[in-house]
Amino acid sequence: MELTGTCPECETKLSISALTVGETFTCPECLLTLRINAVDNGVLELEMVQKQLRDWGQ
Ligand SMILES: [Zn+2]
Repeated sequence: MELTGTCPECETKLSISALTVGETFTCPECLLTLRINAVDNGVLELEMVQKQLRDWGQ
């Protein structure tokens, strides 16, 4: 089954197959790491993963 979703950062439409809730992947556009919070009727609910960035902000 193919799943669709929208990147919360760059709003790119994503189409992914064979992923499950809790997995992470990288947005091909903005290269952020996204985690799948839920899947609702084939639509992904995505959340940005806060990685340990040393220079977060300024
Ligand atoms: Zn993105």
